[in-house]
Amino acid sequence: MKAAALSAAPSPEPSRDCPLCPRLHDFIAVLRQREPGWFNAPVPTFLPPEGEDSVRLLIVGLAPGLRGANRTGRPFTGDYAGDLLYGTLIAEGLARGEFKARPDDGLELIGTAITNAVRCVPPENKPIGSEIATCRTFLRPTIARFPNLRAILTLGSIAHQSTVRALDERVAAHPFRHGRRQEAGGIMLFSSYHCSRYNTNTGVLTEEMFVNVFKEIAAFLKS
Ligand code: URA
Repeated sequence: MKAAALSAAPSPEPSRDCPLCPRLHDFIAVLRQREPGWFNAPVPTFLPPEGEDSVRLLIVGLAPGLRGANRTGRPFTGDYAGDLLYGTLIAEGLARGEFKARPDDGLELIGTAITNAVRCVPPENKPIGSEIATCRTFLRPTIARFPNLRAILTLGSIAHQSTVRALDERVAAHPFRHGRRQEAGGIMLFSSYHCSRYNTNTGVLTEEMFVNVFKEIAAFLKS
């Protein structure tokens, strides 16, 4: 009975050849031909070495960048968004080591895990609604796998809305706003504009705005 229940539990990680989103599956098949040295698969959640029980903060991004996480296999690794994210995590005591934009740079998360609302790289960096909904198949069990989770930080409105839905809450009751914190499904949900180069270049998100969100989270986690 117990074994049956366990085997029926939804997996938090898609298989390397996950077929659930045909458009993304086809896109990755083309990339595997074109760039055989790249990761080119659903990007797994980045976990701290202390394991799932140590995770109190989950960061949810949008989707792997083409030459970033899709190339390297680690969320936010290899593109500009990662420089800002990992630099801030180290400064706020949520990661240790040096971020060198490579999955073997030895950087370690502290009490934090990082995932994406959509695990496969989407064409033009834009997942469509059905792909976001389908990939919640993995976001839900990803949230559920951390027994001591206290906070989630969503980066951008798409990640925010998918996370609210994964928590079985209504988006209308939990709107996205940069710098906002709100309780959802027993978790404190923090929201920030996505730390993409586009957002920082256009001034939508400044480094100071981003760092302030993390200072709030760090204070909350200490409370
Ligand atoms: N890299 C990721 O892994 N996720 C994002 O949302 C952006 C870049």
